[in-house]
Amino acid sequence: MAKPVSFCTCTDTKCPYNPINHDQGCTPCIAKNLRESEIPTCFFNKIDHPKPTGSWHYEDFAALVQAAKNEAPDDAPKKLEVIINEVDSID
Ligand code: SF4
Repeated sequence: MAKPVSFCTCTDTKCPYNPINHDQGCTPCIAKNLRESEIPTCFFNKIDHPKPTGSWHYEDFAALVQAAKNEAPDDAPKKLEVIINEVDSID
C-alpha cells in the first residue's frame, strides 16, 4: 500500500521512486538522486522560475537558482527566506 508524502510535488507518477508507487517515503527518490548526483524534483519545483537546463544535476539546480536570482535580484533573498521558512515548518 502506497504511503504518500504530503509535500511531494513530483508529477512523474510513472517513476518507480515516486512515493505514490511504494511505501518508503522519500528514501528511494533521495537514494537515486544521490547515486546520480541529482537534486530531487521537489527542490526544482519550489523555485518559481522556468528551468533553464534539461537535466536534474547539482549544476542544473544551481543554474535555476541563479536564473531566478538574476531576473528578480530584489526579490531573490526574500523568496529564499520564504522557502527556508517553509522547509523549516515541515514535520
Ligand atoms: S525527495 Fe523525491 S519523493 Fe521526496 S518529496 Fe522530493 S521529489 Fe518527492
